[in-house]
Amino acid sequence: MERGRRQAIVMGGSMAGLLAARVLSDHFDHVTVIERDRFPEGPEHRKGVPQGRHFHILLKRGEAALARFFPDLAPALTDGGAPVVDIGADMRIYQYGDYKVQCATEACLVFLSRPFLEWHVRQRVLSRKNVAALDQCDVGGLITNGDHTRVSGVTVQRSPGRGQETLEADLVVDATGRGSQSAAWLEGLGYPRPPETTVTVDLSYTSRVYRRTPADLPGAKAAYALPKPPHEKRFGALFPMEGQRWIATLGGWLGECAPAHEAGFLQFARGLPAPDIAAVLPRLEPLTDFVVHHFPANRWRHYERLARFPLGYLIVGDAMCSFNPVYGQGMTVSALEAQTLDDCLRERGDGDLSELSRNFFGRAAKAVAEAWLMTVTEDFRHPGVAGTRPRGSGVMNWYTGRIYEAAVYDAYVYRSFLQVLTMLRPPASLLGPRLLLRVMSGGRGGGRRPKV
Ligand SMILES: Cc1cc2nc3c(=O)[nH]c(=O)nc-3n(C[C@H](O)[C@H](O)[C@H](O)COP(=O)(O)OP(=O)(O)OC[C@H]3O[C@@H](n4cnc5c(N)ncnc54)[C@H](O)[C@@H]3O)c2cc1C
Repeated sequence: MERGRRQAIVMGGSMAGLLAARVLSDHFDHVTVIERDRFPEGPEHRKGVPQGRHFHILLKRGEAALARFFPDLAPALTDGGAPVVDIGADMRIYQYGDYKVQCATEACLVFLSRPFLEWHVRQRVLSRKNVAALDQCDVGGLITNGDHTRVSGVTVQRSPGRGQETLEADLVVDATGRGSQSAAWLEGLGYPRPPETTVTVDLSYTSRVYRRTPADLPGAKAAYALPKPPHEKRFGALFPMEGQRWIATLGGWLGECAPAHEAGFLQFARGLPAPDIAAVLPRLEPLTDFVVHHFPANRWRHYERLARFPLGYLIVGDAMCSFNPVYGQGMTVSALEAQTLDDCLRERGDGDLSELSRNFFGRAAKAVAEAWLMTVTEDFRHPGVAGTRPRGSGVMNWYTGRIYEAAVYDAYVYRSFLQVLTMLRPPASLLGPRLLLRVMSGGRGGGRRPKV
C-alpha cells in the first residue's frame, strides 16, 4: 500500500459508494463505508434508495466497467435468475412514433431489480479484508485541518441520542446521492459553491411488480414505449427481473403521472404511445402495491470548474450529477467514475494525493458530459423542459430524429444507435460516414418489423 494512503472513508453505501470503496480497497490500507441505513442481509429495499423500487437498467458499458472490479458478477446475476434480453431482437421498443426494426444486436442487457444488483455488489465489496461497513450511521459534516485546506475526516452519529464522534481519514469520498451536502459544507469552509447546470423535466415513475410467465408477452421478452414529443409525454416499461417477475413502470415528462391505483394505472397505460403494455397488464398477477417517484430535474454540480478545492476530498455518483433516469445511465456513470478513480490512483503510485481531485473531477466530467448530452438533448424535445440547452441540441435532435425514423427499417442504423444508447460508443460515432449516408437516405431495410 502506498505512503499517505492509510485510511479512506466513503460516505453512502449505495452503488456509487460501493464502487468507490471497491477501488479504494486496492489503494488504501483500510476503507470504511458509512451508511445511514442498515445494510440488509439480502436483496431488500432500503429507505435511502427509494428509486430502487423502480426499474433499473444496467447499460452494456456499465456491465463492462463492473466486470473490471467483479469478474464473477455477470454470471452470478444470470445464475441468480436475471434474464438477458437482446434489446434489438427481444424487446418491443416503440419510440418516436413507430416500432424499431427487430434484429440481433450486441445490446444484450441483464435485466434485474436494483436491490438484487446492489446486494451482489455489496457482498463483494464488504467481504474484502480491508473494507469495513459502518451502517445505521449518519455523517453530519467534515473535519479539516486548521486552515481548511485539507479534509481530515468526518463527524458521525451512530444512532439517535448518542453523541457525535469524529473519524479520521486521508481521503473522504462523498457518495451520499442527490441530497449531498458537499456544496454547503464546502461553502461553510470558505470555498465557492460549484456552478450547477439544471434541466427541469418534472418526471414521474409509478411502478408495480407482477408475476412473470413466458407466455405473458408473445414474441418478446420486454416492452418499452417512449413518446414522440411535443404531443406525447408518456412512457411505459414492462421489464423482466430475477425471481420470474415483471416490473411495470408508467410515467411521463412535465407532470404526467400514472395514478397509484389499479383502474387509474390501466387507464394511463391505455394512453401510452403503443398498445403492448396495456394489452398485457390486466392479465398479470400483482405481487406488490404501487410506488411513485418524482424526479424534478437533471442536475450537474460542476466540481471540475472550481479553482480551489480541499485536499483529501472527492464527490462521486448522483452527488455530482443525477440524470433523468429514463435512459438508465446513473449506475453506468458511477461505474465509469470508479474506473477513473482507479486510473488516477494508479498513476500516482507514490501515494501523493495532492493532484487527485483536479485529475479526478476533470476526467470524470468527460464521462458525465457524454451521458448528459444524450439525456438532456432528448429532454429538450419536450417544449416545457427548462434549463441550459447544450450547444447544437436543435441540430442533434433533428439528426437523431432521422436516425429513429431510419431505425424502423434499417438494422445497421438501429444497431449503431443502440451502441450509443448503451454507452458502448460515444454520441459522435453517430456521425460516421456510412451511418450518415444510410440515415439521410431513410434506411435500407435488413431487419424484420416486429409483429404487433
Ligand atoms: C426513479 C429512478 C430510476 C432510476 N433508474 C436507473 C436505471 O435504470 N439505470 C441506472 O443506471 N440508474 C438509474 N437511476 C439512477 C441510480 O439509481 C443512481 O445513479 C445510482 O444509485 C447511483 O447513485 P448514488 O450511489 O450516487 O446515490 P444513491 O443511490 O442515492 O445513494 C446514496 C446513499 O447515501 C446514503 N446517505 C445519504 N446521506 C447520508 C449520510 N448523511 N450519512 C450516511 N449515509 C448517507 C443513502 O442512505 C444512500 O444509501 C435511477 C434513478 C431514479 C431516481
